[in-house]
Amino acid sequence: MARKIQIMAPELANKIAAGEVIQRPASVVKELIENSIDAGATRIHVHVREAGKSLIHVIDDGEGMSDEDASMAFRRHATSKIRTTDDLEHIVTLGFRGEALASIAAVSHVEMKTRQHGDDLGTLIRIENDEIRERSKVSCDVGTSIAVKNLFYNTPARRNFLKTNQTELRNITDVVVRYALAYPGLGWKYTSDNEVLIDVKSSNYVQRIQNIFGKRTTELLLEVKEELEFLSLYGFIGTPELARKNRAEHYIFLNGRFIYSKLISHAVFQAYEHLLTSSVFPFFILYLTINPRKIDVNVHPSKYEVKFENESDIFKIVLSAVRRALAEGDIIPNVSIREGSAVEQGDSMVRTKKQNSTSHPIQYSTVPIFSIKTEHGLHQQLTQRGIILGYEESIAPVSHPHITVDFEGNQIIPHSGGLQYASSQTLWQVHNKYIISSIKSGLMIVDQHVAHERILYERVLNNFQNSLPTSQQLLFPETIELHPSEYALVKELQPYLAQIGFVVKLFGKNTVVLEGIPADVRIGNERKILQEVLDEYKANEHAGIRDIHDNLAKSFACKAAIKAGDPLTSQEMLVLIEQLFLTKMPYVCPHGRPVLIKIPLEELDKRFGRT
Ligand code: ADP
Ligand code: MG
Repeated sequence: MARKIQIMAPELANKIAAGEVIQRPASVVKELIENSIDAGATRIHVHVREAGKSLIHVIDDGEGMSDEDASMAFRRHATSKIRTTDDLEHIVTLGFRGEALASIAAVSHVEMKTRQHGDDLGTLIRIENDEIRERSKVSCDVGTSIAVKNLFYNTPARRNFLKTNQTELRNITDVVVRYALAYPGLGWKYTSDNEVLIDVKSSNYVQRIQNIFGKRTTELLLEVKEELEFLSLYGFIGTPELARKNRAEHYIFLNGRFIYSKLISHAVFQAYEHLLTSSVFPFFILYLTINPRKIDVNVHPSKYEVKFENESDIFKIVLSAVRRALAEGDIIPNVSIREGSAVEQGDSMVRTKKQNSTSHPIQYSTVPIFSIKTEHGLHQQLTQRGIILGYEESIAPVSHPHITVDFEGNQIIPHSGGLQYASSQTLWQVHNKYIISSIKSGLMIVDQHVAHERILYERVLNNFQNSLPTSQQLLFPETIELHPSEYALVKELQPYLAQIGFVVKLFGKNTVVLEGIPADVRIGNERKILQEVLDEYKANEHAGIRDIHDNLAKSFACKAAIKAGDPLTSQEMLVLIEQLFLTKMPYVCPHGRPVLIKIPLEELDKRFGRT
């Protein structure tokens, strides 16, 4: 019987293998850049024509190749980077699989010039149809220049599968940008047809980030740093103002390699919890260095994925480092009043849904400061020049004698990078809604309801953690009849309610008896608040909040907090502000709404022509 199975011809095998490594022009760019970096280049020039479809040319000043190596380089599994299985266990180069050049040569026409230091002449190699067509001595610079022409000329399916030039070019740009960010010490030039897209000299991380993203972005970044024995983490995270609706602006580099990592992204997202709504994502650039023996980069030919040996440690380290950076950073929205417009519209603000949706986006731009219009129809008019009129009526001091507060003396500001209080100040309540205070850098305005919400939210979460409920016993327990579904909910939540201070006894027949209430709930209000908390809990559940603790904390905080319209005494305001700054995140409420805004002194000076 005739044999059916045959070993593939090498060109065919190469073409198939190429399918995995070289999917589009950007993959060629990536592989060539990685080779240049591995060769110790200090400057890399990437030039493309027609989004790489007709030409991809990468020129480096690295170590180059000998004449012999130059022709070996295009063989499959030919590599100078690893030799033994043990080498595979600790990869320190970007390449190691020895298949990129072979794959590229299988699907394009390649011309390479390369010269090593000390050699008078370099080598020129020309490959067509996966064969060396020319090999000659040539005079050229030290380093390597590889020109890839007519990509996928012999794989029409691949070629037809390519996207528009615009899209392919964007993919290439992404690759170049990632490497330019990963290696700020290298000089980079990137040109497309006749256009120079990137041209940067060797510099440092901050400078490189500024070169790529511009000054404004750089100014809105907070530094992240963590040095541990097996891991070092460095990088920058964006303030909420830099958040975007897509996930594109995430850069994770591991040992000089750009990677995708759900683990690390999620750790960052979690650190931003409640600072951003769920539909926007923070900007971040993180550089991790981990002992190569503790990771596996050989997961996929593209090497975009990595396996970590100790995932949960890495998650925790990233989470806490980013949290720390956020807590230390001054992320309170700055509001300034601009000529002609009532309130400055920040140039790229996070705005997702319309207000009064259940989840409140951070709307720095639309937060009424000296509220332009409130629901009570109160107008504190701003003149065209943005100067506040009607000052006396709108910002009336509270009727109590003013208490001078020395926050610093009391050492109650754990967030050192946050607000710097003036050594003494007065608190004012405006329209029973906002609390105004002088701070070192200018003026601070706090939304009393949202501030209290933040305090209660954290208090309840603490109760869950430490199970030390503070409950006040009711002298006259209240019997409450509930809807059957509510009764079922109370039954389910009973132990959790107890942890936050609601002592509820189930009496059957949809009846419960309320015997104790949280210390923060005013007596006389308990029935209403319990009912409201249950309603809010259901609404939150509907909105997708799965965690019982988080939901109950949010529901309770929202319903038990003082409301807009509640008059406060100076003492109450003082306590509120004090407690606010003892929370982990005084700047945003559990729904992501800002708790406070500040108007810098410079802004006031500008408005009054003092500059
Ligand atoms: P790998 O990078 O996985 O080793 P490649 O197919 O990308 O495999 O490259 C094969 C070999 O060719 C490399 O190991 C290296 O020795 C050599 N090489 C490729 N590109 C360059 C370059 N730009 N400069 C110097 N040597 C290079
Ligand atoms: Mg390589």
